[in-house]
Amino acid sequence: MRDAAPQTIYLKDYAPFPWLIDGVELTFRLSPKATRVTSRIRFRPNPDAPSGPFFLNGETMTLLSARIDGAEVQPEITPEGLTCAVPDGPFTFEAEVEIDPEANTSLDGLYRSGGMYCTQCEAQGFRKITFYPDRPDVMAVFTVRVESEMPVLLSNGNPVDQGDGWAEWHDPWPKPAYLFALVAGDLVSVPGHFTTRSGRAVDLNIWVRPGDEGRAGWALESLKLSMRWDEEAYGREYDLDVFNIVAVDDFNMGAMENKGLNIFNSRLVLASPETATDTDFERIEAVIAHEYFHNWTGNRITCRDWFQLCLKEGLTVFRDQSFTSDVRSAPVKRIEDAILLRARQFREDQGPLAHPVRPESFVEINNFYTVTVYEKGAEIVGMLKRLVGDEGYRAALDLYFDRHDGQAVTIEDWLKVFEDATGRDLTQFARWYSQAGTPHLTVTDAFEDGRYTLTFRQETAPTPGQTEKAPQVIPIAVGLLGANGDEVVPTTLLEMTEAEQSFTFEGLTGKPVPSILRGFSAPVEITRESSGAEKAFLLAHDTDPFNRWEAGRDLARATLTAMILEDAAPDAGWLQGLGAVLRDTALDPAFRALVLALPTQDEMAAHLARLGHVPDPLRIRACHRALREAMSEALEDSLPALHEDAQIPGEYSPQAEPAGRRALGNAALGLITLRDGGARARAQFETADNMTQSIAALGALLAIGKGQDQLAAFEARWSHDRLVMDKWFGLQIALAEPEEAAPLTERLTQHPGFDVKNPNRVRAVFGSLSGNAAGFHAPGGASYALLADWLIRLDALNPQTASRLSTAFDSWRRYDETRQGQMRAQLERIAGTDGLSRDLSEMVQRMLG
Ligand code: ZN
Repeated sequence: MRDAAPQTIYLKDYAPFPWLIDGVELTFRLSPKATRVTSRIRFRPNPDAPSGPFFLNGETMTLLSARIDGAEVQPEITPEGLTCAVPDGPFTFEAEVEIDPEANTSLDGLYRSGGMYCTQCEAQGFRKITFYPDRPDVMAVFTVRVESEMPVLLSNGNPVDQGDGWAEWHDPWPKPAYLFALVAGDLVSVPGHFTTRSGRAVDLNIWVRPGDEGRAGWALESLKLSMRWDEEAYGREYDLDVFNIVAVDDFNMGAMENKGLNIFNSRLVLASPETATDTDFERIEAVIAHEYFHNWTGNRITCRDWFQLCLKEGLTVFRDQSFTSDVRSAPVKRIEDAILLRARQFREDQGPLAHPVRPESFVEINNFYTVTVYEKGAEIVGMLKRLVGDEGYRAALDLYFDRHDGQAVTIEDWLKVFEDATGRDLTQFARWYSQAGTPHLTVTDAFEDGRYTLTFRQETAPTPGQTEKAPQVIPIAVGLLGANGDEVVPTTLLEMTEAEQSFTFEGLTGKPVPSILRGFSAPVEITRESSGAEKAFLLAHDTDPFNRWEAGRDLARATLTAMILEDAAPDAGWLQGLGAVLRDTALDPAFRALVLALPTQDEMAAHLARLGHVPDPLRIRACHRALREAMSEALEDSLPALHEDAQIPGEYSPQAEPAGRRALGNAALGLITLRDGGARARAQFETADNMTQSIAALGALLAIGKGQDQLAAFEARWSHDRLVMDKWFGLQIALAEPEEAAPLTERLTQHPGFDVKNPNRVRAVFGSLSGNAAGFHAPGGASYALLADWLIRLDALNPQTASRLSTAFDSWRRYDETRQGQMRAQLERIAGTDGLSRDLSEMVQRMLG
């Protein structure tokens, strides 16, 4: 059915729920096609809310019976929920409903995955489980009984009791329904223990399918590391007797922070050296930490409504980023985060899907789990910390936990703790939450009589629904270098508040070289007319590692731009600087690997579009390739040694140091392979004893149009393993020649391993197609049509995943008329499909603008 005129929800319409809940008891009688859920909910009028009608959300379920205070009632049922006359005072509402987990392919609510039962309730999945006020500001204590013949029965909180075919759980901490979880399956646990700082003994379990036990150790270690870190860095302890993590194969997102029972996409739990790359290990560590940190930032203190999503996500991402900085390398982490933010969040800001970190309206909340809410949300927390300092930040966070524990709060509450703890007025700063778009800084400088002046102008381009932008508070970290590379002014934080503003440094003996926006101190773009020589100087001398990397990146982008637009030759000065950095063994190999990476083809397209050009994806690809060949030649003497240094004897370790060496070695291998016909990569593929080395060698070969035998060998070895096969599907599509991308993708959808119901597989295939810029935009538009076909097909099964993948089209206005026409036609075809979900229809409408 087509949703009758999907409704827009507005932040300004927020009203509290007229009742409070004193307790919830749920009983699940699990059965694949007919699960019975009985609920017993004790309501009482909310003294702080105006009265209103009694409405409970509820969708896709059958109400079997309902009672109020024990007497049968006949509620009125709509597609969205239930209304009923209720007593004036406190009352108990009971209901029995039937649901069909087997038929639930949306993976939202209660569903089946590989024979087990599991739930996903954020944001609004609980309303597919039973009738309930499914909104985050209604918090309640849950007691849950699960009945099933499955051997392992889990829910939130602490175990109460269990017997043959049943188990009972009680969660003493009041929580919103989106944090509810239940799992029942044939699972085994990899157990662990943690003793909190104040002496609470906590049982830890990573639950996996039998056979996967050997791949859960890293997740368990990461969990312990996170628990300790949160005690040390934030003074936050765990608050239950058990902490369970379950790996499931079919999951729309990365993972979910359900209270005491985190549910994870198996790709973010399972790892062994043979099956997971260094990047996978790092990502698992970070996501385990992220979900664990939600226990305080999200669960103990939650969001008043879904417009406040960044309250928990921005802060929790910031916390997981800080954790990774502490347990790995801070500069490398900062660079990785900046790369991601620019590639994805700046892209979002540039297109029709741009929205504020705190949106003011939505049709489908699932469409707002975006890089803007998450990653830009985290940047805002980072800026706050920079502005108030470490001590101010700690004081503000202490106050936040103190004042709001057990509450569902807003961004205003969050900013108020910073104001109260530090005395700072954050009225203007709050614009970071309400204004969409990436601020653009233009910088000029002047030097006279020992005074050096930096002048900044800020400007933010219009975004959908926001034409006028007011100036924002921008913390700009600046250092000044002297001609010999000495730092003459150490990192200083400038606070820009005006549209245009100058800052002066006195008492200098000569004109310095400025290092601006050190550590990427604000999520902005910068334009400054400066010479290549100055950038080369910074690449060689900047004491701030971020800006050192940034200088190299700027030069790479500049030389690529000149190649694309002016047919220029690769910049010899930059190649030389690059060589010097690569040979500097005092520098972290992971850092050097990052210096070696070029901006992606999609980023180049975005960059050209910003300069007012129409990007040609094939031309960008050709120049990208030519520049890599030039690198391969210019760095020829350094590369083999870097590659050899990455062949680390002994047992594989995913820690930062060896992983960094492998990253550099494999970057070198990629370049060597452009000139040696693939000999070295073939040898590495043959001998690799870990996935990092194996997949890097395969990628290097595929990138030069070889590697078909290795691809077949890889498949033969790993066809039984879903997670590894995701890599197999994804890699070949990502690296396909432009005109091959669509036909190959189509062929792979016929492969017996392709499963449209498994989001990981669908993402591996179609995410890689749209990630192959030249392949996605190949002449003729075959990739556009193929993606649209599958989005339509997928939408009928799984709207959330279809909707996310549709963002591949969000840059359509960047391109030439032919491509624009082809993409628009596909978007219109999707929009015109009967029965489209609210998720996908909102996205295509916004993209069509
Ligand atoms: Zn999160």
